[in-house]
Amino acid sequence: MGRYTGAVCRLCRRERMKLFLKGTRCYTPKCAVEKREYVPGMHGQNRQKLSDYGVQLREKQKVKRIYGVLESQFKFYFRKATHSKGVTGSALLVTLERRLDNTVYRMGMAASRSEARQVVRHGHVWVNDRQVNIASFQIGEGDAVSLRSSDKMKERFKTVLEQTKDHKKVAWLEVDEANFTAKVKKLPERSDVQIPIQEQLIVELYSK
Ligand code: SF4
Repeated sequence: MGRYTGAVCRLCRRERMKLFLKGTRCYTPKCAVEKREYVPGMHGQNRQKLSDYGVQLREKQKVKRIYGVLESQFKFYFRKATHSKGVTGSALLVTLERRLDNTVYRMGMAASRSEARQVVRHGHVWVNDRQVNIASFQIGEGDAVSLRSSDKMKERFKTVLEQTKDHKKVAWLEVDEANFTAKVKKLPERSDVQIPIQEQLIVELYSK
């Protein structure tokens, strides 16, 4: 199945929480989750209680939507997580967090992960002096990520940095905002993913 191109606010409303898919609008009273707390659709206001399977499915969909990955990519990450040392659910989230588009978003140089993906796809991102235009590229410890671009794009990065200056910064990145660069001080850990996610539900879903 291809990438979802409909109204992204519906995705947040479906999950009944802010997934921060639309950049600065998400922090304003215009946010659709704040205006309409029920799920979208004709029967949105009188939905039945979810089954156990439904709860697990919603948790998986939520994480997929937050990081903007497709089902096949998500399954690939899950399989990779099952073969890694440690807790599968935590390994899954860490793998998602290490994506290059997420790193650009965490640097505060893109208002949303989808904007960060576009920045990467358009060739504005360099990792250790090599241009990388693959959004799913996994960053490693000690990597230097830099944004190199035209003056016009730099103005855009500056605007976004200004807009995101109050957002919580992540401990695993050392960001040099003046030079649009960041150093990966250490790999992200589960505790760095401060989004309300119950990853064990995803593990239960895929273990059926
Ligand atoms: Fe989600 Fe942002 Fe739309 Fe709010 S404004 S519903 S957080 S995408």
